Amino acid sequence: MDKKEKCIKSNLIYDGKILSLYKDEIITPNNITTYREIVRHKGGVCCLSIKDGYIYFVKQYRYAYSKEILELPAGKLEDNENPIDAMKRELKEEIGFISKSLEYMGYMYPSVGYTDEIIHLFYSSENEVTSTARDIDEFMDIIKIKIEDSYRMLDNNEFEDAKTIILLSKLRKVLLKD
Ligand SMILES: [Mg+2]
Repeated sequence: MDKKEKCIKSNLIYDGKILSLYKDEIITPNNITTYREIVRHKGGVCCLSIKDGYIYFVKQYRYAYSKEILELPAGKLEDNENPIDAMKRELKEEIGFISKSLEYMGYMYPSVGYTDEIIHLFYSSENEVTSTARDIDEFMDIIKIKIEDSYRMLDNNEFEDAKTIILLSKLRKVLLKD
């Protein structure tokens, strides 16, 4: 059965700086007319970086959840930006790393029910340390955690951020091999 839903009319409700909200009128495969609320987003990048046996995280206040969240360094894509270039920029800005070995680890859809956002995932095992260069409205602490301790925290459900949990999980075999 073809499960495709057809858009009859796309209605832009809000056109923001980082996302656009649409309320689209659609027809289901069995000919029912209904609406889909969709957040369109330019996408982002996230990287697990290693230096001397530590994984580098950032801790920042996330307004939507009203608390600080521990995450792997990440950021949004600029218009038509290559994910590799975006990832290099974000690593420099957030943790002051220049990656010498950026490896693509696939991508993820953070919330398929209401957004088309794609997050590209990376792994960087060789890094040169320089200074950070944060945006003026970005406040975060760099938190380095030993690889084994990071996995203990993962197993104890201490991470909350989806991209962080997924990248740690994908790299478990590589990082805990001995
Ligand atoms: Mg960021």
